[in-house]
Amino acid sequence: MSQNEQRNTRKCVSCGINIVGMSAATFDCPECGNEVHRCAKCRKQSTLYECNQCGFTGP
Ligand SMILES: [Zn+2]
Ligand SMILES: [Zn+2]
Repeated sequence: MSQNEQRNTRKCVSCGINIVGMSAATFDCPECGNEVHRCAKCRKQSTLYECNQCGFTGP
């Protein structure tokens, strides 16, 4: 089997779309340091993000 499985699925935390291959922003949650991804569209709209690990929300 030659399935290229990624350990971390990259999904926009705001809208939930798959951001693999997109120019998305990646940053660390200020609360727990978890990696948070946000797509360019949500970044433009300044949509709130929510850490899927600790539930922290921020701009
Ligand atoms: Zn998004
Ligand atoms: Zn967090």
